[in-house]
Amino acid sequence: MELINKKGVRMDGRKPDQMRDVRIEAGVLHRADGSAYLEWGGNKVLAAVYGPREAIPRHSQDATKAVVKCRYNMAAFSVDDRKRPGPDRRSQEISKVISEAFENVILTEEFPRAQIDVNIEILEAEAGTRCAGLTAAAVALADAGIPMTGLISACAAGKAGGHVILDLGKAEDNYGEADLPVAINHQTGEVVLLQMDGDLSQKEFDQALEYAIRGCKEVHELQKAALMKRYASHNGGGEA
Ligand code: ADP
Repeated sequence: MELINKKGVRMDGRKPDQMRDVRIEAGVLHRADGSAYLEWGGNKVLAAVYGPREAIPRHSQDATKAVVKCRYNMAAFSVDDRKRPGPDRRSQEISKVISEAFENVILTEEFPRAQIDVNIEILEAEAGTRCAGLTAAAVALADAGIPMTGLISACAAGKAGGHVILDLGKAEDNYGEADLPVAINHQTGEVVLLQMDGDLSQKEFDQALEYAIRGCKEVHELQKAALMKRYASHNGGGEA
């Protein structure tokens, strides 16, 4: 399978440093304190935030700060072969790394004994769901008015068909050489998530990291636009 041709064109027609289309809408659920819906290429993601509210059971409380509980879940119908419902090792790992990313940016000390629940539901999956999920959850947290040191967004880069590329598609993820998901806090510039699967030389890693950060910035603009739109509809007296 030729993942990228001699002219540098990828299977879906993208250039090496081109992202898939991303669309974000904030405030899509009425019962949640904050929510967002995001489409990223063939990924469809819903994020819902509840809290801060008293942590239960009580032994899970931390007297000094809020506990961030992030739950990433892939719907059974989100992939071609039906996925076995419920948590598995992969979803537990993704929940953990996303929770840790948010623990770094939420001002948890402002809410002792509280918990903040971040639910990420993958409705359709087509590679890059942890980045899509984290990006949607960040918008949902901002929509909930939860104080953070900055808005975070994620994007992966990697290597497929011998080329460093931005935002791996399904075939590139399955048959490519490396995947490097990255998340950035745009106010502080900090990297809050970085994972790597596969092999990259130092030079390729530097290039992939630069691509991923550029992708994060592109997505950040869309996050801000979605929140501005939400804010305008809140304050304009129209339908939320
Ligand atoms: P990410 O979604 O963050 O890229 P992975 O690299 O683990 O995480 O997964 C890559 C892709 O593989 C997913 O986006 C999804 O399209 C597919 N996938 C993951 N788990 C399953 C599964 N249980 N069944 C079918 N496809 C899956």
